Amino acid sequence: TTSANPVDVLIVGGGIGGLSAAFALAREGLRVRVLEQAREFGEVGAGLQIAPNCTRILHDYGLLEEARRLGVLPKSMVMRDAVDGSELTRLDLVDLERTYGFPYMVIHRSDLHGIFLRACRRAGVDLVTDARVSGYENTASGARALLADGRADEARIVIAADGLHSGARRLLAEDEPVSSSYVAYRAAIPIEQAGRDVDLSEVSVHVGPRCHFVHYGLRGGEMLNQVAVFQSPKALAGEENWGTPDELDNAFAETCPDVQAGIPLMWRDRWWRMFDRDPIMTWVDGNIALLGDAAHPPLQYMAQGAIMAIEDGWVLAKHVAARRDENGAIDWQGALAAYEAVRPEHCRRVLTTARAWGELWHLDGVARLQRNTLLRARDTYDYSFTEWIYGPTALTPEEEPPMFSPIPLDSVDVADLIGGAEA
Ligand code: FAD
Repeated sequence: TTSANPVDVLIVGGGIGGLSAAFALAREGLRVRVLEQAREFGEVGAGLQIAPNCTRILHDYGLLEEARRLGVLPKSMVMRDAVDGSELTRLDLVDLERTYGFPYMVIHRSDLHGIFLRACRRAGVDLVTDARVSGYENTASGARALLADGRADEARIVIAADGLHSGARRLLAEDEPVSSSYVAYRAAIPIEQAGRDVDLSEVSVHVGPRCHFVHYGLRGGEMLNQVAVFQSPKALAGEENWGTPDELDNAFAETCPDVQAGIPLMWRDRWWRMFDRDPIMTWVDGNIALLGDAAHPPLQYMAQGAIMAIEDGWVLAKHVAARRDENGAIDWQGALAAYEAVRPEHCRRVLTTARAWGELWHLDGVARLQRNTLLRARDTYDYSFTEWIYGPTALTPEEEPPMFSPIPLDSVDVADLIGGAEA
């Protein structure tokens, strides 16, 4: 085995999902070990948006103050048209915090990851690196993770938080990641290098034909985070090598000066092809459960991927705590069933809405103009769009708020509804 010390829960993957779940369970008094394939625990040095449904959980964990110190609390989120630069709609994030009780924040990914890593260390989580899991087995009394180097490790429960390319997901589904043909470029740079006046009190999103551009401040305004996303013509043509930097400049050639100014600053040595997966409703195989991107990798347009992973661990830990008897014995089957009763449906909604959101953002022609008209008519203080996401995380299906749907997003092609064919 990897270690002589037996644990209750073995978590595969030390990303934000794995570490936050490890902390949530350790804080309930369980012995937890995390197996991470990489040499070191870490995250990409770019930004992450965390909405009230996440900061509420950070508060419950006693970690919100640390996050506040490391992050930025913007005052508004503004959506603009990427072609003409005009404002389409905005969220007042000060009022949003009043409405939901917790802030909307932006934070460096490695800072949020570091907060959970330190919290795990304080809570006594056994953190193991250089441990690549290559197989899973249910046993009579629990489950086993088989390591690529021939070792094995066992616990009462194994949680697979091994990301988009999850090996454990094969126990439950035969699906593959779905390519969106979109690619993301990122940059997190010192603010002096921005080369233009940037209003760091905003999270800014410019939406345009087959592209969008996001920017916001990080680390108390010392840094600027930018994300440039576009549809790759090479991907559409079926080429292997798609999303390359030559495509970046072309994709933003028709955008407004504010967006164009940001493009030369993007990192060009790395890019992220955007994949998600179709939703699956079964996440538990015996004593093995999926969590985070392994269960529900989204397109990032709702900025809820890491948040859903954090919610998963919080929900699971609450159900574990509720099913422990006076001798400390836990009804694990009950806890896993309760987890599986509530989380897959919530995440299914986010995944399908993210796909529809992407279509809406990337419209062209008449459809784009119709979208702009609809968005401009939206009341800034109308929260019907966000209620089902930013409210308290549901522990049971009954607590899950109804999804906002002026139109049935799951069954209708949004582009058709808004304006039909490209003009
Ligand atoms: P991962 O972060 O993928 O972690 C998986 C871990 O498991 C890794 O450390 C990996 O090394 C390890 N691992 C994998 N296989 C094995 C194995 N076999 N054995 C051992 N270890 C293994 N989300 C938000 O909430 N807000 C945002 O603003 C946001 N913006 C985004 C912007 C972009 C451009 C992208 C691409 C994503 C964004 N997301 C956002 C989504 C978010 O990044 C992911 O949903 C989240 O990081 C998933 O966390 P995870 O821990 O489940 O998976």
